[in-house]
Amino acid sequence: MIPYGKHRIIQADIDAVARVLESDWLTQGPAVEIFESKITDYCGAKHGIAVCNATAALYLAYRALELGPGDIFWTVPNTFVATSNAALICGAMIDFVDIDPQTYNISLLDLEKKLHYANKRGQLPKILAPVHFSGQSCPMQEIKQLSNQYGFSIVEDASHAIGGQYLNEPVGNCKFSDITVFSFHPVKIITTGEGGMAVTNSTSLAEKMKLLRNHGITRSPHEMTRSIDGPWYYQQLDLSLNYRITDIQAALGSSQIDRIDRMVAKRGELASRYDAALCNINVVLPHRDQHALSSWHLYVVKIEANDLGLSRHRIFCSMREAGIGVNVHYIPIHTQPYYETLGFHHGDFPVAEKYYENAITLPLYPELSHSEQNYIVETLMHLLSL
Ligand SMILES: *Cc1c(COP(=O)(O)O)cnc(C)c1O
Repeated sequence: MIPYGKHRIIQADIDAVARVLESDWLTQGPAVEIFESKITDYCGAKHGIAVCNATAALYLAYRALELGPGDIFWTVPNTFVATSNAALICGAMIDFVDIDPQTYNISLLDLEKKLHYANKRGQLPKILAPVHFSGQSCPMQEIKQLSNQYGFSIVEDASHAIGGQYLNEPVGNCKFSDITVFSFHPVKIITTGEGGMAVTNSTSLAEKMKLLRNHGITRSPHEMTRSIDGPWYYQQLDLSLNYRITDIQAALGSSQIDRIDRMVAKRGELASRYDAALCNINVVLPHRDQHALSSWHLYVVKIEANDLGLSRHRIFCSMREAGIGVNVHYIPIHTQPYYETLGFHHGDFPVAEKYYENAITLPLYPELSHSEQNYIVETLMHLLSL
């Protein structure tokens, strides 16, 4: 089976991990700090907080921005459930903004309208989390203007988008947001096995996230409420759990980030190859936003059902039978049974629902060979001509 996404590990990665395994330190230590500064150097943010996965990074980002009971949180339905679950765990009420039918990112038009009415009812969100779907940035400049106007904070869920650019600058510089979150799950752009990072330009948000990463505990005398009892002393200042990442994982991440531009370029090259091969058949290709450069985490095409009743479902199953690990991103969150118990219904966000009916993710990862890609294209073209 050709998978839809796959990590790439080389000898240098293995050597980097082995060096940590032979050292005296395995849990969060010097390798984590090195990894954090490599990522912040790369994306141009001031602070990085590496954690055990991006879900935890989102949670810590929301907590640092003091999202809690009584607060409102907004994101899009076309994302992984983690984006909104992390806000629910904070005790917030959540709502969604429908997506743009071209980019599959947040719809600016819907966002403006929804903010206008929410303002009238006194129900503005405390945090908005735009998701850079498939690695292509949302229109952050416009979203930032709206946040200035309406006073909400912005957490970019850039789980797909490390290595991407917006207005010719790296995603993650936090020019238009409070915090940006990356995922290092093996299907994402670079991997640490499991892992994530929150980056920010705010020293106070960074300190808050570092505290919450480690049980709400500090060992820094300047953060403490009274003078230390002795060298063993620490203080718990807030309530949290353990979200640390290991030095083993961080060493893998540091080795991977050295090759990120090459890996993203390879993804882009394969995406262009898909574009060229599929442009004359009846599928909708990914839209390329002129202000963004995608990191190409996902290559999604839409199959518009035709007169022959050809459905995405049939194409999906036939591709899988042919050994091609196609996938679907994403099932609209508001249609999940758990979210229905919160009062959401099918029909609430029609653009995301319509997109979901037709979308199919084709395999894309740096090591996908041209012959594998040709086989994927030929199989899809054959099925569409049936
Ligand atoms: C992968 C992903 C996450 C969660 O990442 P983990 O590192 O697996 O916790 C969150 N949001 C989006 C959009 C993702 O794709």
